[in-house]
Amino acid sequence: MAGHPYDIGEIPPLGEIPPLGEVPDRMPAHLIRPERFGEPSEAFRIEIVDVPDVGPADALVLVMAAGINYNNVWAARGVPVDVCTIHEKLGEPAAFHIGGSDASGIVYAIGENVSNVSVGDHVVIHCGQWDRDADALDDPMLHPSFRIWGYESNWGSFAQFTRVQAHQCLPKAPQLTWEQAAAPTLVGATAYRMLLGWPPHVVGDGDPVLVWGGAGGLGSMAIQIVRELGGRAVAVVSSEDKAEFCRKLGAVGVIDRRRFDHWGVPPHWQDAAYRAWLDGARAFGQAFFEALGEKRSPRIVFEHPGEDTVPTSIFMCDSGGMVVICAGTTGYHAVSDLRYLWMRQKRLQGSHFANDEQSAAFNRLVIDGRVDPCLSRTFSFDEIPTAHQLMSENAHPEGNMAALVSAPREGLTDLP
Ligand code: NAP
Repeated sequence: MAGHPYDIGEIPPLGEIPPLGEVPDRMPAHLIRPERFGEPSEAFRIEIVDVPDVGPADALVLVMAAGINYNNVWAARGVPVDVCTIHEKLGEPAAFHIGGSDASGIVYAIGENVSNVSVGDHVVIHCGQWDRDADALDDPMLHPSFRIWGYESNWGSFAQFTRVQAHQCLPKAPQLTWEQAAAPTLVGATAYRMLLGWPPHVVGDGDPVLVWGGAGGLGSMAIQIVRELGGRAVAVVSSEDKAEFCRKLGAVGVIDRRRFDHWGVPPHWQDAAYRAWLDGARAFGQAFFEALGEKRSPRIVFEHPGEDTVPTSIFMCDSGGMVVICAGTTGYHAVSDLRYLWMRQKRLQGSHFANDEQSAAFNRLVIDGRVDPCLSRTFSFDEIPTAHQLMSENAHPEGNMAALVSAPREGLTDLP
């Protein structure tokens, strides 16, 4: 940690593991502050903060490695929301945001009501948090208190210690390194709910599934889950390397989206230019049949780019099928020609992260070695802003990225 613009004082340097259960008062953390909102490379800074108190249902975890996700690109930009204003509503510090919604680590302290984990347990953490009265619901994801840890709530994993609700802790897959284990839970559990959480539209044997961004965090998990369920994923990508990556994960076919240009909000249906949009969407549908190897439309379309792609997704989804969407990376203004939705009786389904059961079921796939975390690059703690900058420019490598926090530095991969 030498050379950092703060005085370490009595704080154990990152990489030096404090005796089990001994929690320092202060810790280093990557902070985003509202006055620095903008490019991720500028928004994050390492500062020293108090270690948070542990509530009755909480666990305090020494972070060994932290997963990198797109949500803290949004947090760094302050768009579409200033997450600090949400922290304030939760009674958490509002002057700063400690991001990080994926982690592997060691439990260092637990609250008096906690029985599912003990001090010393090796865990990964899912990012779903909610008030305790939501536990009574079948699906706490639908409770108004639901929030994403390390995005809407503070005290994420880009710090020496993270405070979580104990139910977020899941057993770490013993065969994985800390950094591998930290990488997949947010995107994997989200993909799991999208593909299995909305019956009757769950992936079944032989079902064709269109996976946008197949080489990304969500997409790499979706392809593997579809494969494990006996479905047939066709992945969309923007480079030959990414195409090869998706094939290796089990995609039966790949479409290069650079061959098409009908993206974004389609022209009005009464406008003559609408015809050209329709031709583009039809050509994309034809490319899907070719990639799949038969003339069948996707029963499920796995959506997250949003504005650029939703019109095509709704157009090409099979009759009675589902477009399931968890994001709008390219924008939120998605327009559809409704005739294709109602005449073919399709479903447009929103989906957001996952509940405890879905997160645990995804983690089981990882523990059983059926889903690979697809860790492509490991960063040092100092490089957390760089990892987010690459992601914001879609210049990051395939799969998932992680950063070492207290884990040994042997896991580091060099930046190109
Ligand atoms: P990622 O690793 O960056 O992958 C996204 C992929 O989208 C990229 O690999 C890129 O692949 C593709 N893409 C980029 N621009 C595109 C465009 N204009 N048209 C079509 N595809 C495009 O990110 P991620 O982790 O998968 O996350 C994706 C989005 O989902 C983010 O906005 C994230 O915040 C959100 N998300 C939401 C939840 C939730 O619970 N609601 C959970 C996880 C993630 P190609 O360039 O190869 O096509």
